[in-house]
Amino acid sequence: MANLGYDDTPVIPGSTYKVHDGTRPQPRIVTPGAACCGAPSDAIMLFDGGSLAGWVAVRDGAPAQWKVENGYMEVVPSTGDIQTTTLIGDAQFHLEMATPEVVKGESQGRGNSGIFLMGCYEIQVLDCYQNPTYPDGTIGAIYGQYPPLVNACRKPGEWQTYDIIWEAPKFEGDTLIKPARVTVLLNNIVIHHAQELQGPTQHRQLASYAPHADALPLRLQDHGDLVRFRNIWYRPLTGYDQV
Ligand code: MG
Repeated sequence: MANLGYDDTPVIPGSTYKVHDGTRPQPRIVTPGAACCGAPSDAIMLFDGGSLAGWVAVRDGAPAQWKVENGYMEVVPSTGDIQTTTLIGDAQFHLEMATPEVVKGESQGRGNSGIFLMGCYEIQVLDCYQNPTYPDGTIGAIYGQYPPLVNACRKPGEWQTYDIIWEAPKFEGDTLIKPARVTVLLNNIVIHHAQELQGPTQHRQLASYAPHADALPLRLQDHGDLVRFRNIWYRPLTGYDQV
């Protein structure tokens, strides 16, 4: 098989593999069960299928230009990444996503998008149905750091669910006190469990933290593919006796 990744990148700390190492073992394939579940009563909707109110272009802050129809939003290539005007810290997120039914491209070029927590920590979106790529770029990967525990990808065009429990990193001045931590379920299958991140996700580089605010936008990636999203909500995570 052709080299799926890179062999001229640095070794990831805590691993024997390089960033985007194509020789890293492929995540095992698991077929998801049936879809389920509506939003709970205290969910805060970020996209309910009606409009892109509350979403702006990352590049200039202008209203988001992605297409909205039939209850979903769809990437309009070259309009760029979009993000919420809502700032979010520790939270439970739910998103639904579909990669294009018409399959085009391969590896990272097939149905690529991304869910960027706090604007800089990417949970990969990719059509990984019969589409090998470098493992730390698989659907659900913490991009460039951790492959998903398994490949839980549905078929192209099918709606898929991401449920993400996010703990923001904590800084004191310029010092990292506590790294970000994330649990991710893809199609109701655990693919990361309380995984600590090494820093904002990077292409071809090691991650390292830089101080940032406790709450930041949720960002979605325009990678040039016609990926769709719907039913996006979150619940802030606080102690049970805190408002
Ligand atoms: Mg991506």
